Amino acid sequence: MVEQLQRNESGRRLVGTPLSPGIGAGRAYRIEQHAPDFHRLYLSPAEAPRELERLQEALTKSREQLVRIKKRFEQQLGKEHSYIIDAHRLILEDQEFLDQIRSKIRDHLYGPERAVWEATEEWLAVYRTLTDPFFRDRGSDLEEVARRIVANLGESGPPRQEEQSSEDLILVGPEIGLSDLASFPLAQVKGLVSTRGGQTSHITIIARVHRIPAVSGVQEVEGNIRTGDEMIVDGSEGVVLVQPSAGERRDFQVLLREEQRRSSELEGDFRPSSTADGRVVSVLANTDMEDEATVAFGLGAEGIGLFRSEFVYMGEMSGPVRFEDQLSIYRRLARLTGPRPAVIRTLDMGTEDHPYFTRLAGEGPVLGLRGIRLSLDRPQLFRDQARAIVSARREGNLRILLPMISSADELVTARELIRDVEREVSEKTGFEPESPIQVGAMIEVPSAVLVLDGICRHADFVSVGSNDLIQFTLAVDRSSDLLSPLFNPLHPAILKSLERVARVASRNRIPAYVCGEVAAQPLYAYLLIGMGFQRLSMNPFAIPTVKKRIREMVYEEARERIRELLRFSTIQEVEQYVKREMPSWETVGQRSGSRFVKS
Ligand code: PEP
Ligand code: MG
Repeated sequence: MVEQLQRNESGRRLVGTPLSPGIGAGRAYRIEQHAPDFHRLYLSPAEAPRELERLQEALTKSREQLVRIKKRFEQQLGKEHSYIIDAHRLILEDQEFLDQIRSKIRDHLYGPERAVWEATEEWLAVYRTLTDPFFRDRGSDLEEVARRIVANLGESGPPRQEEQSSEDLILVGPEIGLSDLASFPLAQVKGLVSTRGGQTSHITIIARVHRIPAVSGVQEVEGNIRTGDEMIVDGSEGVVLVQPSAGERRDFQVLLREEQRRSSELEGDFRPSSTADGRVVSVLANTDMEDEATVAFGLGAEGIGLFRSEFVYMGEMSGPVRFEDQLSIYRRLARLTGPRPAVIRTLDMGTEDHPYFTRLAGEGPVLGLRGIRLSLDRPQLFRDQARAIVSARREGNLRILLPMISSADELVTARELIRDVEREVSEKTGFEPESPIQVGAMIEVPSAVLVLDGICRHADFVSVGSNDLIQFTLAVDRSSDLLSPLFNPLHPAILKSLERVARVASRNRIPAYVCGEVAAQPLYAYLLIGMGFQRLSMNPFAIPTVKKRIREMVYEEARERIRELLRFSTIQEVEQYVKREMPSWETVGQRSGSRFVKS
């Protein structure tokens, strides 16, 4: 373990949530976010028309600014990321949102700044109730747009002008927006520190793609950090040092060199991975947004093994997303992945609180109308998604994965619909691919394990969703902290189910993937390979370590260990065996605490 940074008497050490890994240092640059100034609480009826015009001017100005920012994004981040600014433009064009603002001015005689902010607050209140962090994070885009409109209503002009400093900077603020980031040359930004900011917010994704360490959830930003303060940010551990001591700065240099050495060692590893005795194992990435594919390939992914398409639907909270919007997302994904496989899972809106889908799914969405059931219940929804994927296939190696399959019947029905859509697309567009699109079934419902032979007969591949498979097989809620000790992949029932999937798929001569969280942990990756799996898909940041560990393992040895493990009937026996026979695998992957604190 590298030298740990020590605490400094004069400096401050703040702790938050790690969002984007890596370490960086620079001078603090505060992104100020003043509370919106309401110039007028109420208007007189005679003033309303003029204020509506002022609102219109501010909207136009905001749109023009976004066009300029998008251009700057294209220059700095590349075309594939600049579309994120389109998300802001879409908010500016959202008629429901704009009508709400206008009605507050016209009917309630609110001052326009107040009208914008109150309408925003009403939408934010809905976002805050959402249980899914991905959708909750969309609220920050809305807030950023609202701040822009309000700034353009006042005399203060656009929120931020181009910054001229040439020093390395750490951007600090209650929340950092995309346009804040776009105000600086990207190479100059060495870290992001904020009070708010989610794992799946756009800014986090950009930070990960561009290797900018980021920490959020830092409550003490206010009053503890001033523009110009020296800072060190550890985005892997969620630690921030303000005014570090000379010793800490030296330690930082050691950590930085160590990190650069490690990342060049691991990330240079773009070879396909195989075990020490030559068994080839493809390591792929799970992603939620097409941009993450760039990160994944930089980390050595050999394809996208699971693209969760739920986010595609986030652009539209009140109904299904437009076909054209879906198409452009899948096209971008196809272009980024090229000949490498990209497996798109069709909509699996479950416990997530998307207002439209929650309404469709009704009560008990986890065990209710979700995944493939929702798709078959609303064939138009499914056909639109399939049509977008099939059409985007022109540009890359896209495949379809069907979630929550519980019987071969569902698979057969869905395949017929997909085939029909393929015929339609080729008639309309003349696109005649060499073979039909590959369609796979997720194995995450226990009944699918039992009728696997039948499923394999109708599938081009299967993919184990271990998160749900464990949840449903063991009747343990995957999101419960209380039950987490029971959520155990080493339970004999889980080992037997997983081994059965690998065996039955191989007997049916179709590939079997594992795309649940277990694949990312070296111990489980080892066991899965021993069972026969040759395709593991995981969180992109786990890829370098898993690839390294695969090269160290011996497949024949893992196979033998699986044979022994499958004989045990209790969890205890399995765990004792693992502890005794595989000590080096057992401890891997556990966090060792902050690098900045001496224990
Ligand atoms: C799973 O269930 O393991 C899986 C990969 O899908 P999700 O986590 O999206 O349910
Ligand atoms: Mg699942």
